[in-house]
Amino acid sequence: MNRRELLIGAGYGLGMLGLASCSSISKTRSNIHTRYRHYAPLKSTMQRVTHSEVGLRPFRPEGYRLEREPLAHKTLVHNYGHGGGGISLSWGTSTVAAQLASQPRVKDIAILGSGVMGITTALILAQEGFDVTIYADDFPPNTTSNIAAALWLPSSYFDRNIVTPAFLEKDRHIIRGSFSRFLGYVNVPRYGVSWHNYHLLLPQARDSIRQLPGGNDLYPELATSTEDNLFGYPYQSYMKALIIDPMLYLPALLQDAQIAGAKLKQAKFENLDQVLALKERVVVNCTGLGASKLFADTSMYPIQGQLTHLLPQPEINYAYVVPTPEGYLYMFPRKGSIVIGGTAVKRAFSTEPDQKLTARMVQGHAELAKNLMR
Ligand SMILES: Cc1cc2nc3c(=O)[nH]c(=O)nc-3n(C[C@H](O)[C@H](O)[C@H](O)COP(=O)(O)OP(=O)(O)OC[C@H]3O[C@@H](n4cnc5c(N)ncnc54)[C@H](O)[C@@H]3O)c2cc1C
Repeated sequence: MNRRELLIGAGYGLGMLGLASCSSISKTRSNIHTRYRHYAPLKSTMQRVTHSEVGLRPFRPEGYRLEREPLAHKTLVHNYGHGGGGISLSWGTSTVAAQLASQPRVKDIAILGSGVMGITTALILAQEGFDVTIYADDFPPNTTSNIAAALWLPSSYFDRNIVTPAFLEKDRHIIRGSFSRFLGYVNVPRYGVSWHNYHLLLPQARDSIRQLPGGNDLYPELATSTEDNLFGYPYQSYMKALIIDPMLYLPALLQDAQIAGAKLKQAKFENLDQVLALKERVVVNCTGLGASKLFADTSMYPIQGQLTHLLPQPEINYAYVVPTPEGYLYMFPRKGSIVIGGTAVKRAFSTEPDQKLTARMVQGHAELAKNLMR
């Protein structure tokens, strides 16, 4: 089995989508007695589109950078480069970053960046009694973290041909630690973290399921089936998965950090001299893709992804990912919208939504939904 196919999450998509692929999907016969007849079909029409947005995943082929580095008279701690898995990994890597930043113990700590990494690291350190200031160019709702589809399934954050066994070993602990922290936020309305039925659908039957990130016990009800699947696909991997709404989660976490004493300062760092001029002796670098320029990390590049938001459908509590010949289509429900997406374009820097792509995605999901309406 191709591991990449089974690991697909929202942070992971390939290429562009196309209508041709969707028409071939709709030819797949769906069983009228399917066990999913109680699922409400997605109303995927252009009239229900509220907006589209484009985000740049901070991809680093060797995996995220999580280490301490001396920089002149300061101690720098790096926590960046989480690709398409940063929301999922955030509690795990930020806990390690906070530990690295708290030894040797100093009073004041600067956090650069206010995406999910900066906020989570700041919260942990502020709750431990440090005087924390978050310096960032953008704050929620204007960060890449706000754009994430935010399925809890760590994926697409290293190149399998480059990553080391040592990284993967540490990563497993980080994934597990991160998952356990997210559990504490489930169904607390202000954080927007909840369980949903998740279906990965494939056009060919596969053999048994492989290990998912962190271990299969992190994915309740994990099962595969080769008949009577959602939309009539020949193969399905099903589980319960956490979906996080970053538009609720990030402001709530930022508020928690401020209540714990973290201060916020708008600042854009153009070079290392400006970082060195900060009053704090310990600096945690959570600048995401910004680290490539600020810290001259030439290995990192963006993987661009476009998401479209449809009007909410509270009756939908399932999510899916389906492959198309040119990429993937995925759908994740939130309280405030239905998120559809599936694109991942390497080294593309534009953050302008492509309206033709929006139309193709809407059409592709509409064709899938027809299989539930028969
Ligand atoms: C379309 C899409 C779908 C995704 N889906 C998922 C998913 O389903 N699950 C998942 O786990 N992850 C997903 N991700 C990945 C996730 O969004 C990222 O890994 C994560 O947001 C990275 O967080 P971060 O805090 O490192 O960076 P960011 O959110 O980009 O935050 C960086 C911060 O640093 C600041 N900054 C940068 N440079 C400077 C500078 N020079 N001076 C001052 N401030 C600076 C910025 O202003 C910002 O505050 C997705 C991403 C995209 C784009």
